[in-house]
Amino acid sequence: MRLSRFFLPTLKETPTEAVIVSHRLMLRAGLVRQHAAGIYNWLPLGTRVLQNIAEIVREEQNAAGAQEIIMPTVQSGELWKESGRYDDYGPEMLRIKDRHERDMLYGPTHEEVVTDIFRSNAKSYRNLPLNLYQIHWKFRDEVRPRFGVMRGREFLMKDAYSFDVDFERSKHSYNQMFVAYLRTFARLGVKAIPMRADSGPIGGDMSHEFIVLADTGESAVFCHKGLLEKPAPQNVDYQANLQPIIDDWTSLYAATEEKHDTAIEAKLGADLVKARGIEVGHIFHFGTKYSAAMKASIAGPDGQPLTPLMGSYGIGVSRLVGAIIEASHDDAGIIWPESVAPFRVGVINLKTGDAACDAACADLYAKLSAAGISVLYDDRDERAGVKFADMDLIGVPWHVVVGPKGIAKGQVELKRRGAAAREELSLEAALNKLTAK
Ligand code: ATP
Ligand code: MG
Repeated sequence: MRLSRFFLPTLKETPTEAVIVSHRLMLRAGLVRQHAAGIYNWLPLGTRVLQNIAEIVREEQNAAGAQEIIMPTVQSGELWKESGRYDDYGPEMLRIKDRHERDMLYGPTHEEVVTDIFRSNAKSYRNLPLNLYQIHWKFRDEVRPRFGVMRGREFLMKDAYSFDVDFERSKHSYNQMFVAYLRTFARLGVKAIPMRADSGPIGGDMSHEFIVLADTGESAVFCHKGLLEKPAPQNVDYQANLQPIIDDWTSLYAATEEKHDTAIEAKLGADLVKARGIEVGHIFHFGTKYSAAMKASIAGPDGQPLTPLMGSYGIGVSRLVGAIIEASHDDAGIIWPESVAPFRVGVINLKTGDAACDAACADLYAKLSAAGISVLYDDRDERAGVKFADMDLIGVPWHVVVGPKGIAKGQVELKRRGAAAREELSLEAALNKLTAK
C-alpha cells in the first residue's frame, strides 16, 4: 500500500477524551473513530489489525477441533424466555421490538441460540463431541463504556460452545480450549495468564480467565512469577490427554482479586507478582444449565434421552487490540508484534521525487509484495521527520529507510521498531533479510 493513497487520518494532538494509552494511540494512529458511546468505526489500519487477530484466533480454534459458524446478531427474545435469562439479564441487554411487536434483542452472548441450533439439528450422541464457534459482534449496554475498545458496547468476540456426553468428555473439551488459548495468546505476542475465576452455579475448577498484565488493567491480579516465563505448548495433539498441560499451568498460583487468598502472600514471598490485568478471554464449564432448561436432549448410547454438558469459551477480539497496545508501546507510538501488525514492513522514501530514491523504493515495494510481505510505502512528499514519526506512531515492525546518500552507495537502512540500532546494508541484503523472516 502506498501511504499517499492509504486512508490514514492520524492526529497530532492527544485526544482529551482518552485516558489510557491504548485508546489515545488508537485514535492518534487512525485505527478507530468513535461513532457513539462505546461504539466504534474501524478504519483501514484498525481493520487490518482486527482481522489479523481474528485469523490467528480462527486458526487455533480450528486446530483444536472447533467448527466455525455464524449466528445472527439480532436474536428472538423467545429463546431467552425459555432459558429464563430474558428477565434476568437486565439493562445490559439491548431490547428491540420488530414491526409485529415481537421481542427481539441484539445478542450480548449466544448460549441460547447455539443450544437451539443443537436441539433442532443434532440427532444423537453420535454428533458429540461438538464445539461450534463464531467470531462476531456482540452488544452489551455497559453502564460505563470506557477505555476505547477495551470496554465497548459493541465489540467483536470469539465465542465457542462445546457439547459433550459426560463430565469426563466435557472436561476434555474444556482442556482443548485452555490449551488453544495458551497458543493463541502466545501467537498474538501477549502474555495472557490463566487465572481461576468464579465458577458460578456448577462449582468445581472449570472456569478460567486469561489475563494480560498491564498497569491500566481494570482488575488487581496476583500470580507466581514463574507463569510469566512459561512458553505455550508446542505440537499439541488435541486428541491426547491434555490434563498434564493444564496441571502444569494451574499448579502455579494465579488469581484475580475476587479469588485471591491473602495467606498465600507470605508463602510465595518474592515469587508473587502483584499487578493489574486485562481480561482477554474466559472459559467456563456450565454443565446442563442451558441444555436442560431448553430441553436439548438427544438419544444417548443406551437409547435413553441424554442432556449434553456444555461449556462456553470467549475471547475479546476487539479488546485485544487495546490490550496488545497497552502491553507493547513506547513514547513514539505502538509497537506491534509481527503476527498482528497491519503491515510488516514500512518503506520510507527520504526524498520523494529523487529518481534514484523513487526507483529503489519502487523496486523494494514490488519485490517485498511479490514475496507475500505486507508493505506500507511512504511515498508522500513530506519531511523525513514526519515520515519517521508516523511510521513509529502506527507501529510497523520493520522500517527500510531509503535516502539519496545511501542509494549513491547502493545502501539502505534497516531498523526494527522499538530498537535503537540501525543497520546499513545493500538493497539486496535488506530484501533477503526481510523475506527470510
Ligand atoms: P468483563 O468482566 O470484562 O465485563 P465478561 O466477564 O462480561 O467481561 P465474558 O462474558 O466472559 O466477559 O466475555 C468474553 C470476553 O469478551 C471477555 O473475556 C472480554 O475479553 C470480552 N469482553 C467482554 N465484555 C466486553 C466489552 N464490553 N468490550 C470489549 N470486550 C469485552
Ligand atoms: Mg468474565
